[in-house]
Amino acid sequence: MSNTEHGGIQIELAHIFPIIKKWLYSEKEIFLREITSNACDAVTKLRRLISLGEAKGIDAENAKITVTLDKTAKTITVTDEGIGMTEDELRKYICQIALSGALDFIQKYEGEGDSAQNGIIGHFGLGFYSAFMVSETVEVVTRSYTGAPAVHWSCNGDGEFDITPDYDTEDEIGAYGTSVIMHISEEGEEFLSEYKLKEVLEKYCAFMPVPIYFVDADKADEECHCKEEGHECHCHEDGGECTCGEEGHECTCKDAQPINDTTPLWLKNPSDCTDEEYKEFYRKLFHDYKEPLFWIHLKADYPLNFKGILYFPRIANEYESLEGQVKLYYNQVFVADNIKEVIPEYLLMLKGVLDCPELPLNVSRSYLQNSGYVTKISAHITKKVGDKLNAMFVNDREAFEVLWRDLKTFVEYACMRDRKFYDRVKDTVLFEKCAGGFVTLNEYLEAAMEKHENKVYYATDATAQTQYIQMFRNAGIEVLLLDRVIDTQFITTVEMNGENVKFARVDAETPDVLKDDGDKTEIPVLKDLFAKVAGEHTTIAFDRFRDSAPAILTVSEESRRMQDMMKLYRMEGMSDFPVESTLVLNTASPLVNKLTGLCDEGKDELAEMIAKQIFALSTMSQRPFTAEELSAFLTDSYSVLDKLS
Ligand code: ADP
Repeated sequence: MSNTEHGGIQIELAHIFPIIKKWLYSEKEIFLREITSNACDAVTKLRRLISLGEAKGIDAENAKITVTLDKTAKTITVTDEGIGMTEDELRKYICQIALSGALDFIQKYEGEGDSAQNGIIGHFGLGFYSAFMVSETVEVVTRSYTGAPAVHWSCNGDGEFDITPDYDTEDEIGAYGTSVIMHISEEGEEFLSEYKLKEVLEKYCAFMPVPIYFVDADKADEECHCKEEGHECHCHEDGGECTCGEEGHECTCKDAQPINDTTPLWLKNPSDCTDEEYKEFYRKLFHDYKEPLFWIHLKADYPLNFKGILYFPRIANEYESLEGQVKLYYNQVFVADNIKEVIPEYLLMLKGVLDCPELPLNVSRSYLQNSGYVTKISAHITKKVGDKLNAMFVNDREAFEVLWRDLKTFVEYACMRDRKFYDRVKDTVLFEKCAGGFVTLNEYLEAAMEKHENKVYYATDATAQTQYIQMFRNAGIEVLLLDRVIDTQFITTVEMNGENVKFARVDAETPDVLKDDGDKTEIPVLKDLFAKVAGEHTTIAFDRFRDSAPAILTVSEESRRMQDMMKLYRMEGMSDFPVESTLVLNTASPLVNKLTGLCDEGKDELAEMIAKQIFALSTMSQRPFTAEELSAFLTDSYSVLDKLS
C-alpha cells in the first residue's frame, strides 16, 4: 500500500458524526436498510446502464447482494454486484459530504427533535454514514463496472480516512461491485447476533428488488447436513429455511434461497394475481391465520404514483382491537409501520402495504402530517375502499351480506367520521332485520312507504323488546335490529346527513297502523288511578290498538337517546335523571274495560292492585326493572296470588 494517501472528509465532522449517532440512537438498525438499499440501487443502476446499452458485455440479470455476519471478526459486510465506483466517484460520493446546505441545515436544527434530523439524513444523502452508528471503522472496497482499478477506503469514527487507489482486491468483491465492511463497535454489538441481523434484514429488506443472501461466516464452511444421505433438502423451496427436521441444525446451503421476495405481489397486475396469492401474501406478512375479508389492490398512476394492497382483516368480535397495520415502502424498501398519517384514522384497522416512491425514504412524521401529497393518497384510499364495497354489494349481494356483520362496525364508524365516505357508500350500507335478512335504507323506506313514510322502526334488543316487535310484525311493519352501540350512533349520522328519515325505537311511539278505529276517549277514573300507580314521570294517555295488550309504555326517542348517551359517556349522576314516559291505555282491551267497571263499583283496592300489575308488566316489556321495582313487583304479585287462592 505504498501509494496510500491520507486525507480528511471535507466537512466539519465534528458536526456530522454526533448528529448521525444521535439520529439513530433510537433506531440504530436503520444502518442496515441504508447500506443494503445503496447496494440495491447500485445493482439497479447497473441494470439500467445495460438496458441503455452503456455497459456492454455485462450481465446483471442474476446480480445479487450478500450480507455476511462474521462474529469472530466482529464485522457485518454488505457486498453487491452493482455499478461500483471509480476512485473519483468514491471521492465525490463518499468522501465529500461537505454540502454546505446540509451543514446549514444541521446547524439550524441542532438540538431539535428527531424529525428534523431524520429529514437531513435522507435529504442530503448521508445514508451511508449511518454505518458509523454501529461501527468503529468502515471499509469500502469497490470496483467500477467500467473496469477501472479497484479502490479501498477505510474510515474511523472520527472521520479520518485512508484511501488506496489501484487496490489489490482479495475476495471482497467480484469483477465489479462494492463491499462495505463494517467493523462493529460496542454500540452495535447486538447486530452481531444472527437472529437479530436476520430480523432487521427481514423487516427492511423483505421486498427489495435484488436478491439478498444471508451468510453466517462461522457456518459458511460447515457441511450442510441436508445433503447427507437420507435427508431431503427443502432449503430451496421457501425462504431458505431448512426443514430437514434435524434438531438444532440450521441449513448452511450456500445456494439457499434469498431472504427477500424481489417481485412482491403489489407490483403485479391485479388481473394476474389469484385469491390464493393474496391470502398467502397476507399470511406471510402479518402472520394472521384468519382469512382477510377482502382486499384492494391499489395502483395509482401519475401524479399520485403509488401501489399497494390493503386487506380488511377479519375481526373476531366487537371488543378485539381494531388496530391494523399498514407498512409503508419506498421502492420496495421498508420505511415505516402503522403510518397513521397516510391512512385516514377510521381506516386504521386495515392491514397491508403501500409503496410510495414519491415520499422521501427517511420520511418524518411531521412531513407526513403536513404533506398535501399524503392527503391525496389518503383520499384516494378512502375512495377505493368505498368503490370496493359498492362493487361487492352490486356484484354479489349474497356474499356481501355474509360479510356484513364483520364489516358493519367499520363502515358505520367510517361513515360517522367522513361525510364523503358516507355519501359514497350510503346505498350499500345494510341493516339487519329482526325477522332475519338485510335491507338497505332505501329498500326499507320503499317497502314501508304506504304505512309509515320516512320512518324506520328498530329494536336494540330482540329479546327484551319482543312484545313491541311482535305488535309491529302483526301490523306488517318491518323492525330493524340495531343491537350494537355504534348502530344507534350511526342512525343519528344518517338523520343528520339530511336523508329525510327518522329512526324510532319500537317503544318510542305507536304508529297509526297499530291503532284501531273506535272509541278512544279518555277514562277519567283510570287516568287518576294510573297516575297514582305510575308516579310523576309517566303521563297517562288513551288510545285504541288492534293488539289486546292493556297498556303500552312509550319513551320518547329523543329523551331515550339522550339517556343512552349519558350512560355511554358515564356522565356521573346524569344517568339517574328520570326518563319521561307515557303509559298508553288500550281502550280496546277487555282487561281495561273490566278495570273501569271495578272503579265504577268502588272496588278501589282490587283496581289498584290490577293497575299496579299492568304498569309493572308494561314497564317490564320496555326495560329491565330496577332492584326496587323488582322487589315491589314480586311482593305485589304474591298479593295477587293470595287474592286468587
Ligand atoms: P444516497 O444513497 O441518499 O445518495 P448515501 O450517503 O447513502 O446517500 O450514498 C452516497 C452515494 O454513494 C450514493 O448516491 C452512491 O452514488 C454512492 N454509493 C453508496 N453506496 C454505494 C454502492 N454500494 N455502490 C455504488 N455506489 C454507492
